[in-house]
Amino acid sequence: MAMPTRAKTVIIGAGIHGLSTAWHLAAKLEAKGQGGGQDIVVLDKTAIAAGASGIACGVVRNNYFQPAMRELMAQCVEVWESDPKAFSYHPVGYMQISPEAMRADVASIHAQQKEIGYESVFVEGAAESMDYMKGLFHDWQAKGITSVLHEKKGGYANNTAAIYGLASKAEALGVRIMTGIKVTGFKTGHNSEAVTAVETDKGPIECDQVVVAVGPWVSQIWNMLELPTAVTIKGRDGALHEGIPTWRYWCLEEGTLGVDPDLQKTNDGKMPPVIHVDTDAPLHSDVDGSLITEEMWGIYYKPDFNFGGVQGGAMPYKVETPVNQVALDPYGPESPDFIVGDDFAHMWCSALAFCQKRFEGQIKVYKNEASGGLGCFTPDSFPVFDCFRENVTVIADSNHGYKMIGVGKLIADELAGEKSRLLEPFRFSRYAEGKLHPTSNSPFPWS
Ligand SMILES: Cc1cc2nc3c(=O)[nH]c(=O)nc-3n(C[C@H](O)[C@H](O)[C@H](O)COP(=O)(O)OP(=O)(O)OC[C@H]3O[C@@H](n4cnc5c(N)ncnc54)[C@H](O)[C@@H]3O)c2cc1C
Repeated sequence: MAMPTRAKTVIIGAGIHGLSTAWHLAAKLEAKGQGGGQDIVVLDKTAIAAGASGIACGVVRNNYFQPAMRELMAQCVEVWESDPKAFSYHPVGYMQISPEAMRADVASIHAQQKEIGYESVFVEGAAESMDYMKGLFHDWQAKGITSVLHEKKGGYANNTAAIYGLASKAEALGVRIMTGIKVTGFKTGHNSEAVTAVETDKGPIECDQVVVAVGPWVSQIWNMLELPTAVTIKGRDGALHEGIPTWRYWCLEEGTLGVDPDLQKTNDGKMPPVIHVDTDAPLHSDVDGSLITEEMWGIYYKPDFNFGGVQGGAMPYKVETPVNQVALDPYGPESPDFIVGDDFAHMWCSALAFCQKRFEGQIKVYKNEASGGLGCFTPDSFPVFDCFRENVTVIADSNHGYKMIGVGKLIADELAGEKSRLLEPFRFSRYAEGKLHPTSNSPFPWS
C-alpha cells in the first residue's frame, strides 16, 4: 500500500483501541454520508495486534469498585455482544470470589450492577460461598472466602482473533491499516499547539486530528508530544501532592497449565465462567507444602483452547526502573526481561490446586513457554481518555483495556464533536481537581 502524505485522521496503534476507534469512526462517517474510512489511516510500527492486545488473557468483566468504570464496562460488553463471532468472544460469565476484607466492596458492586441492569448473583457467608462454588465445581476447596459475585455477562475473547475481527470491520469501511511504519515525532503549526503532521520513519503524514492508541508505548509518544512527565494530585484531604510521575510500568504475569481445557468444565458439563479468586488464607506450595505467602493474594483462570490449556495469571509486580529506561522492545514473550519465571509457575499452579482439587499435582504440565508483558499505568491506575494540544486524543487505558472495546466508539463520537458522558470521569484534569476514583481493597492495581 502506498504511503499516504495526508489523511484527515491518523490513528497510531493497531491494537484494541486504535482499531475500535477506526471502525466506529468510519461507521459514523458512512452513516452520515461522509465517506466511511477513506480518510482514516491507522499506523503501527510492527503489526496488527503486536502490542498488549495480542497477548492479553482476554478477560471481559464488569466487576469494578468504581461506578464510572462499571458503567463504561457495561457499554463495552454491549459491543462485545454485538458480534461474538467476529470478536471470538465467549460469553461464559465471570466470578469474583473474595475474602472478608473485600466483602463490603463487592456487595456494593453487586448493588450497583442491579441499578444499571447488569445481571449478577451475590452470595455471602463462608458456608454459603462454599456451597455455591461446589454447585459449580464439585472439587472446590478454596479457603478464606466469604463472598462470591457471579456476573452472568462477560467472559473472555481470544486475543488476536478479536483484534483481526476489528481490523476486518475497519478495512471493510475503507480504513487503511499500514504496518511497519513507526511514528517518530509530530509537526506543529505556527500559531497553535495543534499537530499538523505526524512524522514517521517513512516520511510525514499531514493530518487534521491524531489518535494515540499505543498501549504500553504511551510514555514514548507522550514525550514526543512534550506533555507533562509529572502531575500534581489533589488528595481526598485537599492536600496537593506534587511531582507524581505521569507513567509507571507494571509487569503482568500469566501462564498456561497444559491440561485438556475440558478438565475445567462445570458439574453439568458446561464451559465455566472465568474465575478470579482473592484470599488472605496462607498459600502453601503444591509441590512440597512450604509457605509461599501469608499476604493477601489473587489469581484468575479460564479454560482456553486458543492457549491450549487452563490459562490465567496472578498479581503483577511493579517495575522499579525509571520510566524512560524501561526496555519496552522487544515486547511480550520476545522480551528478555519481562516474562514469567519459575516463581510464577510455582505460585500460580499452587494457587490453582488451593482452589480446585483437580489441579493438585498438575504443575508438571505447566507450559514452560515465555509469557507475560508490560503495562503502562497512570498515577491512579485508572485510564486517561482526553484531548491534548487541541487535536490529539490520547487513549491511555492504564492496562484495563482489552475488555474496553467500546471506548473506541465513544472516542469516535468525541472526534465527531459529541462529548461522551461515560468518558468524562477519565479526563487528565481529575488529578489537579482532586476528582479521583474510589479505591478498592483488592490486591490488584486495576480492580
Ligand atoms: C499479559 C497481559 C494480559 C492482559 N490481560 C487482559 C485481560 O485479560 N483483560 C483486559 O481487559 N486487559 C488485559 N490486559 C491489558 C490490555 O491488553 C491492554 O490494556 C490493551 O490491550 C491496550 O490496548 P491498546 O490498543 O491501547 O495498545 P496495544 O494493544 O499495546 O497496541 C499498541 C500498538 O501501538 C504500536 N505502536 C507503539 N508505538 C508506536 C509508534 N511509535 N509508531 C507506530 N506504532 C506504535 C504497537 O506496535 C502496538 O501494536 C493485559 C495486558 C497484558 C500485558
